Amino acid sequence: MIVFDLSCPDGHRFEAWFGSSGAFDEQRKRGLVECPQCGSNVVDKAPMAPAVPVKSNARQTNATRPLTNEMPPEIASAIRALAEAQAMALQSSKWVGGEFAEQSRAMHYGEREHATIHGQATPDEARALVDEGVPIAPLPFPVAPPDELN
Ligand SMILES: [Zn+2]
Repeated sequence: MIVFDLSCPDGHRFEAWFGSSGAFDEQRKRGLVECPQCGSNVVDKAPMAPAVPVKSNARQTNATRPLTNEMPPEIASAIRALAEAQAMALQSSKWVGGEFAEQSRAMHYGEREHATIHGQATPDEARALVDEGVPIAPLPFPVAPPDELN
């Protein structure tokens, strides 16, 4: 058995026992792990949970250190809620990669049907879109292109 310090988007913290780390992931994915205070099944390991083991490669350690480690729990949970909101929003959004600027512009000028898309744009492309009045917004969190996901 393994105990995890968990928290929900409202910042409630609680402990829960699982058969293994994998069991936790599995149960959480299926929405079976609930916050005992508000019943939310959007739970994650609390930010103050035991630190990620230090890797021997210092640069890598720096890059993989969770952003939430040194933040007050309220901020960390707000950020997590935002990240989850982004993930939800992107579920109905189409990844267009490097064609983002072109497709956004085409929609703006009515050359193609409107759709929710996300992708990559260079700073110059983004600036040009904004100048033309094309409604775009930066995502608060980096998104891995689908072809880079395992
Ligand atoms: Zn809660």
